[in-house]
Amino acid sequence: MPRLAVIGHPVAHSRSPAMQNAALAALGLGEEWDYEAIDVAPEGFEARVRAMPAEGFAGANVTVPHKLAALALADTASEMAREIGAANTLIFGPSGILAHNTDAGGLIAALPAQPQGQRALVLGAGGAARAAVWALGAAGAGVDIWNRTPARAETVRVEVTERAQDLQVKIEVGTIGVEAREDPAAALDQSGYGLVVNTTAVGLRGEDPFVHLPLRRDGFRPGQVVVDMVYGDSPSSLLNAAAAAGAATVDGIEVLVQQGALSFQLWTDREPPLDVMRVAAYSLGDR
Ligand code: NAP
Repeated sequence: MPRLAVIGHPVAHSRSPAMQNAALAALGLGEEWDYEAIDVAPEGFEARVRAMPAEGFAGANVTVPHKLAALALADTASEMAREIGAANTLIFGPSGILAHNTDAGGLIAALPAQPQGQRALVLGAGGAARAAVWALGAAGAGVDIWNRTPARAETVRVEVTERAQDLQVKIEVGTIGVEAREDPAAALDQSGYGLVVNTTAVGLRGEDPFVHLPLRRDGFRPGQVVVDMVYGDSPSSLLNAAAAAGAATVDGIEVLVQQGALSFQLWTDREPPLDVMRVAAYSLGDR
């Protein structure tokens, strides 16, 4: 039986096993394939992954905090994984470990329209931000990065710009340096962006995005697309405010479904049943 898994630390909350097993079952692969969650700390990650092919694993998703390590240990990597500098999908094949990144493609697939020519604001400078900045920049959006710790935004800007130069990809990325405050006058003009993507962890533990991010609750407008990568059981207050202003919204579960579908296709070479995956991902509580 080919085995699949998501490897993270922690990973018990992941919706990927339910989503991927539902997809396998829908295509009649449920008896043959199985997808599980594996919790492993960073110090044990490489040894765990290297043992997996002999244990019957055909591939794996990799999540926080292992995405950089996953790319580093792979024998070969897709162009997208190398461009982003991180991998979220591994394939164990005859020629070794192959690393992919479906986070970027998943974000683009989740958007209602191609971002080409749009101005995009990416909030955050962690792993999710790196994939988002690359995905949007390479798709032709002009990207501004804001982060609570401005130096990390600058690091992402420099790294993405340098990698784009090496790969001869045209990309336009800058940084924004305003402080997040409740004072609306201190916030930046978010209505100037066609696309706003929250990749920070704000909202994960109930933090108010309009206190922790430089956004105004009443600052969204119709025609904008607002993405919140953070997801829980109910729509985030960020997306509620965006929807109330007439903006289109994309939640983190849709992004998760789209990146999972791309990974599924890589492992099985089958068309992923998106609707089945979506129902499974949304029907789970945040556990
Ligand atoms: P990460 O590398 O740890 O980065 C966390 C980011 O959040 C940093 O930019 C950090 O800013 C910022 N942050 C944390 N607390 C903050 C606060 N109180 N105020 C302002 N900024 C704050 O994490 P990650 O891997 O990028 O993931 C970020 C979020 O995206 C997580 O909630 C994760 O669940 C979600 N995510 C979702 C998907 C999906 O498919 N839907 C995929 C990946 C990630 P500093 O640099 O200042 O610390």
